[in-house]
Amino acid sequence: MDITRDIDLIARLLEIKKARATGPEALEMLVGVLAEPHPALAGAAIASISALSPMAVFPERLHDDTQAEGLGEEGLPGWLVGGCRGWGGLADLPSLIAGKAAPMLAPEAEVFLERAAVFQGAQRLIYKRLRGAGLDSHAALFRQKVLELRRKQFPAQVSLSATMACQLRCDFCIAEDSVAAAESLRSRPVTYDDAMALLDWMDAHGVKRLSLTGGEPTLYERVSDIIDEARKRGMEFYFSTNGLFGSAMLKKIIERRPLCVTMHLAPEITGARLEEFVSNARSLVEAGIYAVIRCNIVTPEDDYTRFLEAATASGIKEIRAAVAMPNSMRANAYVSAEHLKSYSRILASFAREADERCVLLVLTKPYPPCMLDEETAGRFLSNGSYETNCSIQKNGFSNNLVVYPDLSFSPCLGLNGRVSRRIVEYEGPRDASLAFIAPVRELMGEHLLEQCGSCPLSIGARCIGACLSYRADPPEFYGQHSHALRTHGPRTHGGS
Ligand code: SF4
Ligand code: SF4
Repeated sequence: MDITRDIDLIARLLEIKKARATGPEALEMLVGVLAEPHPALAGAAIASISALSPMAVFPERLHDDTQAEGLGEEGLPGWLVGGCRGWGGLADLPSLIAGKAAPMLAPEAEVFLERAAVFQGAQRLIYKRLRGAGLDSHAALFRQKVLELRRKQFPAQVSLSATMACQLRCDFCIAEDSVAAAESLRSRPVTYDDAMALLDWMDAHGVKRLSLTGGEPTLYERVSDIIDEARKRGMEFYFSTNGLFGSAMLKKIIERRPLCVTMHLAPEITGARLEEFVSNARSLVEAGIYAVIRCNIVTPEDDYTRFLEAATASGIKEIRAAVAMPNSMRANAYVSAEHLKSYSRILASFAREADERCVLLVLTKPYPPCMLDEETAGRFLSNGSYETNCSIQKNGFSNNLVVYPDLSFSPCLGLNGRVSRRIVEYEGPRDASLAFIAPVRELMGEHLLEQCGSCPLSIGARCIGACLSYRADPPEFYGQHSHALRTHGPRTHGGS
């Protein structure tokens, strides 16, 4: 090993990380690093650019070319305003990237543009700038890299709630109340025939990824048969669980090699249940299965160390956390939008301690970035949290399709108002999503806070503040859009 080169590399990595302190003026230098051959240097540059340029990180949910310059700054933190200033103008990040790409020949341009493609909020503008500079072949290459990345990050998938039953009764659970579910006709476990009909439908429409959610999927008697049938059709699968299952189920899971197991560490999991949870998590990790802990922060005083301790004890390296969201089905205003700010301190210390323990802490649902201090915002901006934590609009609004036991479906678990017509009656996921695109887009356009109207991050609905369920007052939302969301009859064609 060449120690001198390693020391050089470490020094460069530190320099790239420290460049964040210089502010947006460092962007030009960082864009230069994106072109360097060493992937570690490029990775560090991507993290630093992300921390400095929030407009490039938040995905554009709607197209909007308003310039960030001149928008109101009142009530917004300096790091946010500074990081957005100049966006849409001549020297913004997309222009720097297009300028850097201009003299490059194919092999170098390919690597550079592939790296630049990770900035979801900048993709459209980078393409536009390349075209505007007459760099048509670079623009075509960039477009291809964006599409490849999109297919990898957001493959077509469907989530099946095979059963709504669960051993636990968590107040904030965004799935339907399991006691009510057990009594409700339409929430009885999916029939095996219906599960097979869904797999056939997915197969016919090229959907090759199945997610199993709930309720608690391991309580569904024939869950391993569903997985086996999915695998016969060439599908991958992953699932969410409360981690409370016996050794026979553990063996079945390990044998079937899920892409990921998301283990919800609910407040009710303590004592012997916690031991069972940790032991199952450890066995999955030891078997080489990618497992993550999912947790909800329910009060600003929660003890988040229990999540970190469970991760350390089981060897899990990633925690996905969210402030508990209102449940649109049960009208649960668990944490009001006004009180979200009181969670900023716990998020800051949770993120810092996770870093110290080398555990990746990502926000799995949006949290208003303007409520975070610069250091914490930088952590979440550079670790991918804000790129993926509400991807409801991806794949033509069909990215998060959740299918319930009676094959009714919803845009996602958070907005769990159901379209009653069975999903298998639609001509594919995009066709099914036409039933709710209009109301979901409308929700996206509604500001969470008063200051959102003058915040650059609201351009293109990049920042939605918090989960759309905050804005979906159930009676009003489902009443007003009853045709769109509860349609039995002809489909509603309400958007693109
Ligand atoms: S609206 Fe967005 S954040 Fe909320 S549950 Fe759906 S996908 Fe997640
Ligand atoms: S859009 Fe609204 S919630 Fe998001 S950062 Fe701006 S002010 Fe905060």
